Parts: sequence; C-alpha cells; structure tokens
Amino acid sequence: MAQIIDGKAAAAKILEKVTRAAEELKAGGITPGLAVVIVGEDPASQVYVASKSKRATECGFHSVQHSLPESTTEQELVTLVEALNRDPSINGILVQLPLPQHIDSERIIHTIAPEKDVDGFHILNVGLLGAGAVSKALVPCTPAGAMLLIEGVRGKDLSGLSAVVIGRSNIVGKPMANLLMAANATVTIAHSRTADLAAVCRGADILVAAVGRPEMVKGDWIKPGAVVIDVGINRIPAPEKGEGKTRLVGDVAYAEAEKAAGAITPVPGGVGPMTIAMLMANTLTAACRAAGRQPPVL
Ligand code: NAD
Repeated sequence: MAQIIDGKAAAAKILEKVTRAAEELKAGGITPGLAVVIVGEDPASQVYVASKSKRATECGFHSVQHSLPESTTEQELVTLVEALNRDPSINGILVQLPLPQHIDSERIIHTIAPEKDVDGFHILNVGLLGAGAVSKALVPCTPAGAMLLIEGVRGKDLSGLSAVVIGRSNIVGKPMANLLMAANATVTIAHSRTADLAAVCRGADILVAAVGRPEMVKGDWIKPGAVVIDVGINRIPAPEKGEGKTRLVGDVAYAEAEKAAGAITPVPGGVGPMTIAMLMANTLTAACRAAGRQPPVL
C-alpha cells in the first residue's frame, strides 16, 4: 500500500510558517501585501479569487482585491497593474486568468513587475527558473507546491532518480520539469505527441501527471515504489451520488496506481491545497526580498 501524501496537512504547515514569518516582518514595520485582480464575472474565477484574498488576510497580509467589469479595456487593466507596480504597500500582484478575449493576457503578464509576479509567469521569472536560478525566481505556485510534496518523500536531492512529467504547459509541466532538474533528477517531459507513454512512465521513480484527462495514467504504468504526483483536476459525472451529481478525479487512476506506488497524492487533497499556500509563500518571499531580508526556508 502506498503512502498517501497529505497535501492539506503540508499546505497547513506552509501557511503556518508564512504566517509566523509575516508576524516577524510586521514587527519590523513591514506588512506583506497581495493584490488580486479579476476581470469579468466567471463564477469559478470569482471563487478562486475570493479564497486567495481571504487566505492572504488569514496570513496577516495587507490584502486588496480589484474586481473589474467584463467591459474593462486592456489599457485600463494595464494602467491598474502599473499603479500596483508603483504601490510600495503591494508586494505581490495576481491577475486571475483567463482574462476576457478582448484582453491580451501576455501583455498583462508582462506588465506586472517581475519582482511582484507571484504567479511566476513573467518571462524573467520563467528565464531564471530555466537557468536553474531557483532561489532568485518567483516559481509558479502549482509546480512549486508539487515539488515540496516530492521533497517531503524523497528529500531535496533527487540525484540518480528518474522523473517523468506528463504535460508541457507553461503553468505546470515545464516549470515542474525545471524544478526536478534543479534538484538533480533525470527528467523526461512527455506530452500528447509522445510515443508509448505507458513505457515512458514505467521508467519513472517520480511521475508527475499534469494533463487534464480523467484517470488516464493506469496502475500498470507505475514503476513499483514510485512517487506519483497527480496535478490533474477533472470533474466527472457521479450518477452513484444521485442524478446530475459530479465528483473530482485526477489524471491518475488512483485505486489502481495506489497498489503499485510507494507514495501518491490523492485528488482532491493532494496538490490542490498546495497551490494557494505557495501563492502566500511567494508573496512573503517578494516582501522579504523588497525589504532586503532572507525569505524563510519552507
Ligand atoms: P494544459 O491543457 O495547458 O496542458 C496539458 C498538457 O497535457 C499539454 O502539454 C499536452 O501536451 C498534454 N497532453 C494532453 N493530452 C495528452 C495525452 N493524451 N497524453 C499525454 N499528454 C497529453 O493544462 P495545465 O494547465 O498544465 O493543467 C493540467 C491539469 O492540471 C489540468 O487538469 C488542470 O486542471 C490541473 N491543474 C491543477 C492545478 C492545481 O492547483 N492542482 C493548477 C493548475 C492546473
């Protein structure tokens, strides 16, 4: 039976450390500040943004939320981001994606000052991570959180271990692969054009699935004893719970995979809770750097 990696507990520990470090900063007259910006009325995005703002307040941060109407122009959004860039009470700026179609997301991401880019999507942070300068970058929250879960099982040095990341998105797959490489793992990135994905996965001591296809990774794809990190969040029909009901599953067929894996993240309760915790950690890091202080080790 695999060790079940408890993302909720790991996230709670990080939030505790962040809250304590924020208290210390505040004692020195510095309050970390997070600004969350949302454009439009997408209900899922509204829920995400509300929980990010709430969590920031719970961590003792100065928390600001800008909710703009769907009709906001690209220039209006640029102007707001530029004002937040100049605002010394704000250390982190998060613009919730996706943005409405008429706004160029790339332009907005690259308007955010790199040192306040707590999502880690600005090309400067992408480049720092790609160059292996992890301690200087702001790292995207989901892969950063997944990496801490891996470290919790295998330690910080993954020398000699083979890691396979399924998915090559800029948000998860690529930064995940860079983090694993920085930790000395031997990394393969698999994607929709990979031949014999099952065989590739069978070689993985660490397998990270970030695809968005319910239960695609089967039990017999898992190397016995492997660490399996399931980033996928997929909602599927659950008629057994009643008509029209749904449930969340990952990209890994959990019941099968759990029998072979050494350690595995559940969905929900695995990588998910780590994402928001790492957003708080990134905001704290940005505040520490702005104050010329060393961010705490998480
Ligand atoms: P994406 O759609 O941008 O990328 C998916 C990747 O999967 C692509 O690189 C594609 O090449 C690959 N892929 C698609 N079909 C494949 C196949 N049949 N075989 C192999 N590879 C295939 O998605 P994303 O933004 O990287 O997100 C991936 C998953 O992670 C989604 O389920 C998303 O909901 C979830 N996610 C979770 C969190 C979290 O907080 N836990 C955060 C971000 C994303």
